[in-house]
Amino acid sequence: MKCLICQAAARTVHALGDWSEVKCPAGCGHFRVSANLVAKMTLKHESFDLERTRRWLEMARNDEPVPLISTYDYNVSLLHRDAEERTAGLPNRSRQSVTSD
Ligand SMILES: [Zn+2]
Repeated sequence: MKCLICQAAARTVHALGDWSEVKCPAGCGHFRVSANLVAKMTLKHESFDLERTRRWLEMARNDEPVPLISTYDYNVSLLHRDAEERTAGLPNRSRQSVTSD
């Protein structure tokens, strides 16, 4: 199957039960995604934000060699939002964060 994060050809190590375990050779590495989240993404045709998700996985690997991405993590920080949605959702703060960079 394809990598859920970057869509590269990846190997699914385990896809039974509550999560899918994927090994992506394109840069995402070894991770797990909750089955609920996979179902939700498929249903809504949503996708991960590639850059943010890989950064998140890197940090999560400090605690857990094969991080599990839950629906919660996805909704809070990993869901890909297009630019239109982002500017509409953050009226004033977006300007601040741009200048502070
Ligand atoms: Zn990948």
